[in-house]
Amino acid sequence: MTALPKKKHTRARRGNKRSHKGKSAINGFFCPECSEPRLPHTVCKNCGEYNGRNYHTKSDKPVEEETAQS
Ligand SMILES: [Zn+2]
Repeated sequence: MTALPKKKHTRARRGNKRSHKGKSAINGFFCPECSEPRLPHTVCKNCGEYNGRNYHTKSDKPVEEETAQS
């Protein structure tokens, strides 16, 4: 037999237990290309920019320079 609780815990006790379970804000920053929030050391999900390169179009140059040349 496993251990079983002898009595039901009150709503207050349940609430006190869950008071430490709150969500906290994600530690990230905003993309320099599109200013969308993104996680550090990851490719931007919105525009695909990372470290001056666009990994959606797989080009070596940033998006702004490409549009200026064409
Ligand atoms: Zn972006």
